Amino acid sequence: MGNPDIPTQAGDSVHVVVTLGLDELKTGIGHACLDLVGDISATDARILACDCKVIPVTLGSHGEPLDVGRAQRLATPAQRRALAIRDGGCAFPGCDAPPQQCTAHHIVFWAHHGETRIDNLVLLCGKHHRLIHNSDWEVRIASDGYPEFIPPAFIDPARAPRRNTMHTTRT
Ligand SMILES: [Zn+2]
Ligand SMILES: [Zn+2]
Repeated sequence: MGNPDIPTQAGDSVHVVVTLGLDELKTGIGHACLDLVGDISATDARILACDCKVIPVTLGSHGEPLDVGRAQRLATPAQRRALAIRDGGCAFPGCDAPPQQCTAHHIVFWAHHGETRIDNLVLLCGKHHRLIHNSDWEVRIASDGYPEFIPPAFIDPARAPRRNTMHTTRT
């Protein structure tokens, strides 16, 4: 699962409010104040904000609220169903986690103007969602509309894209 504090049953996540600086939000460094669980790292806040009903209150340098997030950042139940059909579960190569154990990751993070559209979303289990946010693994949607993952150079110097074949016979 993703964050154990966040129920994701039926694709409906809990409403939480995150307060952190804009620079922290963009870089994933520093701390955020989270109503529900107290202090968490900004990286954790980014992961929560990726799929949950998070209301980000972005603060300027003087602590003034700059921006309150919008609902369309969230994957809708219909989008989650479409993702479950497309990805079959966690899309990370070699992972067999089913859709119920996954959250919808924004390939281009919404704070970087990424849109909540199927071609900007990919299903990931909690472990691989964390890996994508915290490592040099990259994910993109290939020209055929399916997600593929690019390993860090230390795993594959050629950085050849990989796909998950656990959920489908598609290659
Ligand atoms: Zn994410
Ligand atoms: Zn996974």
